[in-house]
Amino acid sequence: MSTMSPAEALDRVVYLLDRDLAEGRRVAAYAKARDLARELGDDEVVRLHRAGELLDQPGIGKSTGNVIALAIDGGIDEHLAALEAETTLDVGEGAALRAALKGDCHSHTYWSDGGASVTEMATTARGLGHEYLVITDHSPRLTIAHGLNRERLLQQLDEIERVNEELAPFRILTGMEVDILQDGSLDQDVDLLERLDVVVASVHSKLRMPEQEMTRRMVMAVASPHVDILGHCTGRKVMGSGRPQIQFDADIVFAACARFDTAVEINCRPERQDPPEELLALALGWECKVSIDTDAHAPGQLEWQAYGCDKASRMDIEPERIVNTMSADDLLTWAQNHPVL
Ligand SMILES: [Zn+2]
Ligand SMILES: [Zn+2]
Repeated sequence: MSTMSPAEALDRVVYLLDRDLAEGRRVAAYAKARDLARELGDDEVVRLHRAGELLDQPGIGKSTGNVIALAIDGGIDEHLAALEAETTLDVGEGAALRAALKGDCHSHTYWSDGGASVTEMATTARGLGHEYLVITDHSPRLTIAHGLNRERLLQQLDEIERVNEELAPFRILTGMEVDILQDGSLDQDVDLLERLDVVVASVHSKLRMPEQEMTRRMVMAVASPHVDILGHCTGRKVMGSGRPQIQFDADIVFAACARFDTAVEINCRPERQDPPEELLALALGWECKVSIDTDAHAPGQLEWQAYGCDKASRMDIEPERIVNTMSADDLLTWAQNHPVL
């Protein structure tokens, strides 16, 4: 066998496809084959391959079977090198800024709608040079994303505590991407929001609300001392069939962000690229802080911070204004000290 086991090779393919925002079904096929290979173990996978029975396994197809064969018979390194090259991110003018970031404040795991465990996400973030990763799975009313109710959030906090012991000095910070409900209240118990290290608040429902109501809704959330970051503020999607921006009075919302020291997120997801530059310029005019976050739902997507760094660099945003240039301790101090209305 080559230096890489079939499961390891499949895992790397998943990573690279996620980095490239490949179609969900395609990534899922490799992830499923990887999970099966892990379950069967190396010896059994080799035996099946030698017996010519690999493709009889449910969950192994032509492409995934090919990766397994290359890992066993040789040739996987060349195959992966080609895929590495094909999916490489072009880090442009934001490279220096990217190097200055110490963490990522918005990420998802298996606990809600992510495609990897807390450990896998954290290990990848560490490999990318970060000192910390904030895990921000969804809140309960986002049922489509399997949002975390009180009980499941508490279970997740226990898991994070365990993984933190294994990965120290790397730090996993606790958090949530909490839904901003229609009346501007937050979709999680206040005692839990208080306990979490970093809270991102986002609008995910009733996106067509009239501007005046939407403005009030967002200002209410931003004014909460528990909210640290306003997530993907316009809700737009710029790929596929797309999605229009929600309507809100940006001057009022960003003035509130500045007043309550809530950072405006630069969401790095290629299909979001939120906020657009003219709105970001407005937020900067109000002297808002920003947070450059991937909103990663898989390890490979943690590399997307480069996109937000390019944007921030183009717009001359000083590193001091970017909350994730702070150390974990400074970030926590900031998050615990928002002015109260
Ligand atoms: Zn979101
Ligand atoms: Zn998110």
